[in-house]
Amino acid sequence: MQLSAETRLKAILEGTGAGTWEFNLDTGEIIFNDRWASMLGYTLDELSPVSFQTWERLCHADDVQAAHQALARYLNGEDPLYECVVRMMHRSGEWRYIHTRGTLLTDHDDLGGRWLMGTHLDVTDEKVSQHQLQKLAESLPGVIYTFVMEPDGSFHFPYLSQKTEDFYGVSAEDARANPNLMFDPIHPDDLPRLQASIGESAQTLCQWVCDFRIVQGDRIRWLRGVSRPERDIDGSITWHGVITDIDDRKLLELELEQLSITDELTGLYNRRYMLRKLEELAAETERYGHTFSLVSLDIDFFKAINDSWGHPMGDSVLQTIAQLIESRTRKADIVARTGGEEFIVLMPNTTLGDARHVAEALRTGMESLAFVSDEGESFSVTLSAGVVSWSTNVPSVRDLLAMCDQSLYQAKRAGRNRVVVSGAEDK
Ligand code: GH3
Ligand code: MG
Ligand code: MG
Repeated sequence: MQLSAETRLKAILEGTGAGTWEFNLDTGEIIFNDRWASMLGYTLDELSPVSFQTWERLCHADDVQAAHQALARYLNGEDPLYECVVRMMHRSGEWRYIHTRGTLLTDHDDLGGRWLMGTHLDVTDEKVSQHQLQKLAESLPGVIYTFVMEPDGSFHFPYLSQKTEDFYGVSAEDARANPNLMFDPIHPDDLPRLQASIGESAQTLCQWVCDFRIVQGDRIRWLRGVSRPERDIDGSITWHGVITDIDDRKLLELELEQLSITDELTGLYNRRYMLRKLEELAAETERYGHTFSLVSLDIDFFKAINDSWGHPMGDSVLQTIAQLIESRTRKADIVARTGGEEFIVLMPNTTLGDARHVAEALRTGMESLAFVSDEGESFSVTLSAGVVSWSTNVPSVRDLLAMCDQSLYQAKRAGRNRVVVSGAEDK
């Protein structure tokens, strides 16, 4: 069935719920459709006779000027169409937000002047939601955002609340125009982890949670992002989320974490941390086939040192030994005080032979240190060490520690002040 253009246009207009208006710029003649009037709670008859003043009378005084300016911009060729949102008074006394759009009919000379024709759409609900969102965003101690990643990897922020400026030092408008601005201030040590976590969330469609630091001049602060992803039919993924300031909480958390892994007397790591790292190293070694070694050190006759020179002197000896071990090992090595006068050095990517050299250097270094008691008497301290290396025939971390203890015990039995290597031959 062939529908006339008029029927089709009418159906489309009814479907969209749009009011229409036609305004002759030369004669001032104006025509509205029924919907134009009913949108504001009237019938056309009730508004008759209609004129330009009908619109002006119903329009909010503050918005009339803005509408005139929008029209002037369009007529001057600055804007591609006449478009603005104005408030208009409904019969009930409520203001409704009306989105008005129009264009000029130019190529019809027989129409009796320049006709501007357009539509009215009631966008009050959208305006109210937008307003509510803005108020919510203002009261929330964080940034609300929507982030979209396209299948080709490009990304943008369709929505960012105004607090973006406080958190990132970048205005929401600038960040929407250039989404990279949201990633530039992220601490370089945190950026790869943050990007990887976004990638993982995109893959699994699981909630994205990430703690990261923002650098603004001299200021560094911790933020936490939490958002939920959803996949659109075009393959793009959209996250809706919030970014909050967790600086105080994070610093406290890091401080507590540091306390929980540190030995108070020497500042070295404690046994708990050493065990955790040992498990990690063993797992990594299994995966990548590296090797690692472990040196266990125990001070000889330490009880006698306490007994002879006093407990505080004993403490000071422990602190000196801690410094000695730290100064003779690499940054990647983990040095821990694992008991009263016992220390363990975990050495990633180190063979048994190299570990033995380190243990030997520690032993001789210790031996040559001269301590002076409070009474001015000098004394020396020695230590014994056991050395082991992780290999395929070590069943577990627990066995590795037992083997090391065994070697240390042998060193003690053989007369102390010596290093015993487990498995004997060098690798
Ligand atoms: P060995 O050569 O067999 O290792 O003998 P040792 O005396 O070193 O070993 P033992 O295990 O008998 O004694 C360890 C001593 O370390 C006992 C304890 O008083 C002392 N000790 C443990 N923790 C501390 C500490 O924090 N400060 C001080 N000053 N002494 C400690
Ligand atoms: Mg001991
Ligand atoms: Mg001892």
